[in-house]
Amino acid sequence: MLTLPSCWPPHHGFLRYPDGVSASTARLDTVFWDIDDTMFTTTVFANRARERAIAAMIERGLKASPKQVFAELQAVVEEFGSNDDRHYDRLLKRLPPEATAGTNRDLLVTAGVIAYHETKWEELRLAPSTARLLADLCAADVRLGVISAGLTHKQMEKILRLGMDRYVDPELILITDQVGVAKSNPLLYRIAVDAAGVSAEHTLHVGDHPHKDVDCAKRAGMRVAWHRGDGKYSKTEPVCEPDHIVDSVEELRPIFIEHYGVSLPPS
Ligand SMILES: [Mg+2]
Repeated sequence: MLTLPSCWPPHHGFLRYPDGVSASTARLDTVFWDIDDTMFTTTVFANRARERAIAAMIERGLKASPKQVFAELQAVVEEFGSNDDRHYDRLLKRLPPEATAGTNRDLLVTAGVIAYHETKWEELRLAPSTARLLADLCAADVRLGVISAGLTHKQMEKILRLGMDRYVDPELILITDQVGVAKSNPLLYRIAVDAAGVSAEHTLHVGDHPHKDVDCAKRAGMRVAWHRGDGKYSKTEPVCEPDHIVDSVEELRPIFIEHYGVSLPPS
């Protein structure tokens, strides 16, 4: 059965101001969202998925402690990058030969890959409060988009698994690999603003990286909410001052209501 997304087609109407909020409140037409470590805690998720992958390989005969294998896997990811598609293959080659003696390495690799993907199926979801906020913003005629760094198909998969596709305008999804401009270049944000067809000051970007999200979006003239949280960049100050600093997406709800006059339910 075809299920229509709850926020599509896009609407370009004016914002509705709730009672008591004046029209002089800053106007907000479009909100762009970073994905990793903003819409979900990427590092925590990846560690859990890798732990499950390791458990699956040990179950199939890999002879090593989960702690030892995890440390080696982290080294592989660091050396070859998170987008390398042969992490488990490389991992098994680096373990002592006795660890894989009597096994079929490719069987172990495949077991690890399956366990990793099963974790994605089961756990990659928006927090209910985040999904509710996106739905409420759509209902209040605020257009939503994505500005995210990474490989196109991997980031699109995250959008779909998280369910963000129900809320974001597909024409406002900008993945660095797809656009050919990195997040360290304010041009990416200017391209996003142009795609939205509104003034930069009427757009808000929400992201966790102090430089790639905050500084570059500010340099493109956008308003910025720094999702500082407790991620790996939380201790690094941006150069440009963000308009808002939050430690969770849900903290944005009162900001949308009070600062931008968006008509949202209080929670
Ligand atoms: Mg991020």
